[in-house]
Amino acid sequence: MTQVFAYIIHKDGVADDTALELIAAAKKIQADAQVTAIVTGSGSDLDAVCTEVAASYNEVLKIDNENLAYPNAEIIRALLLKMLPSDAILLVPHTTFGMDLAPGLSIKLDAAFVADVVEFEGLDGSTLKLVRQEYSGQVSTHVSCDISSGGVINIRPGAFAPDESKAASGTVVDKSSEAQGITVKRSYLETVVAEVGDVDITKSDVLVSVGRGIEDEDNIEIAHDLAEVLGADVSCSRPIVDSKWLEKSRQVGTSGQTVKPKVYIACGISGSFQHLGGIKGSPFMVAINKNSKAPIFQVADVGIVADILEFIPEFADKVKEMK
Ligand SMILES: Cc1cc2nc3c(=O)[nH]c(=O)nc-3n(C[C@H](O)[C@H](O)[C@H](O)COP(=O)(O)OP(=O)(O)OC[C@H]3O[C@@H](n4cnc5c(N)ncnc54)[C@H](O)[C@@H]3O)c2cc1C
Repeated sequence: MTQVFAYIIHKDGVADDTALELIAAAKKIQADAQVTAIVTGSGSDLDAVCTEVAASYNEVLKIDNENLAYPNAEIIRALLLKMLPSDAILLVPHTTFGMDLAPGLSIKLDAAFVADVVEFEGLDGSTLKLVRQEYSGQVSTHVSCDISSGGVINIRPGAFAPDESKAASGTVVDKSSEAQGITVKRSYLETVVAEVGDVDITKSDVLVSVGRGIEDEDNIEIAHDLAEVLGADVSCSRPIVDSKWLEKSRQVGTSGQTVKPKVYIACGISGSFQHLGGIKGSPFMVAINKNSKAPIFQVADVGIVADILEFIPEFADKVKEMK
């Protein structure tokens, strides 16, 4: 049986949401896969993360070293090269860090590498079939790869429903000695947390989110009006920030904020993976778009084919009436 490993991202003693998504992804490769979590870091926070992760993984390899205090892909790559068996499959979240780590690691391991995977379609011997998306989610690519000498697979955050079963009660094994003697050329100095703008959309329960379909800066007012009657905040896709129509702190997506609202109303947003990657926890999603084939309708709970410039003011009036 292929050994599956997952690299766990964590912060302040808490595992990232992707920890439960990677275990779900591993079980899609093989339902009875024995999955080992790799948790690297430094200090007392690490034990809390390992205990949390052990509830879901069969085994947790803890590597505690002061050089691992920051997620420095260079040292983690060197570490994984020492630790991974030659035919292992390693799952890594498809984030900036994941793209820093994984391609170089796969070359050094002589293993297959596939980025931004959203689905697995089966393992037959040493052939792993999977699906990734291209062109901002407009095209699904079915990939068959030879994993006889291992595989490094980047998993898109949010693509796999988190496995909340916590059925594993795995053992934590201290492998910190593996990090001894690894030298690095790249050192991290500090992490600078981005400033929160006038509104912290990461805390909003309801978001009215506008995309390029809003067409003009002046039209954003209708989204503010709807947000006001709904008790919501206004967020947006990246082109709106690029146009300087709203501030960066309101951008949802992989290069913006990650939000966890209860209700997300996407207005004139096509549904690129970079945008959807910033929406966590499967909120109730309403998508309003004039193109019935827009990819956002594939993930929305309610899809409304309409011109937002007409629909949003009517919707706001209706809510006011009902109130
Ligand atoms: C490295 C990288 C990082 C990125 N990070 C992010 C990110 O963090 N967040 C993000 O959002 N994007 C990000 N992007 C950009 C992303 O790829 C998309 O280009 C972007 O999400 C598209 O925004 P949109 O949906 O508003 O615009 P479009 O894709 O242009 O979609 C506009 C939609 O509006 C609809 N529409 C037009 N007029 C109307 C109307 N009157 N009424 C109703 N519907 C209408 C159209 O049918 C269309 O579906 C990133 C890209 C890269 C390369």
